[in-house]
Amino acid sequence: QDGEVGKAQRAAAEVSTEPTIFSRIIDRSVPATILYEDDECLVFRDVAPQAPVHFLVIPKCPIPRLSRVGPQDTQLLGHLMVVAARTAQAEGLSDGYRLGESCVPPHVALRVTLPALIPAPLLAVINDGKHGAQSVYHLHLHVLGGRQMSWPPG
Ligand code: C5P
Repeated sequence: QDGEVGKAQRAAAEVSTEPTIFSRIIDRSVPATILYEDDECLVFRDVAPQAPVHFLVIPKCPIPRLSRVGPQDTQLLGHLMVVAARTAQAEGLSDGYRLGESCVPPHVALRVTLPALIPAPLLAVINDGKHGAQSVYHLHLHVLGGRQMSWPPG
């Protein structure tokens, strides 16, 4: 299967303990436009932006996916949300933004051509696993802004 869903299915099949591309962004062996960094997290622009402003907030410890978090991660997850909001403010998103819209271009493309037949995709706020269309197994929040978002997400 092509597109984001196919990519997610391949990524799910290949889940391993190998470092992901995001670990390599953290250690600077892969370049990224970094907006913010502290001891616990890193914020960088998405390489394939789906809005005028689109950045990712990731923990430095490689939690592979949301379904692997536990009570010990409560403070860290709260911190990621606070950093997302502060970075959105620093990026000038004073008219608001969306935290966590997943990018599923194939569904969006289908809705453009067959809007009456294809229901609005239900998108996870954080993509988790194969059915969540997660493509990089290092927990991340998406933040999108700079344009009007629609609802339901699409
Ligand atoms: O939620 P999902 O796992 O599909 O999102 C992964 C995101 O990571 C994508 O939006 C992709 O564009 C982004 N990415 C990136 N830089 C890379 C590899 C992926 O910003 N080097």
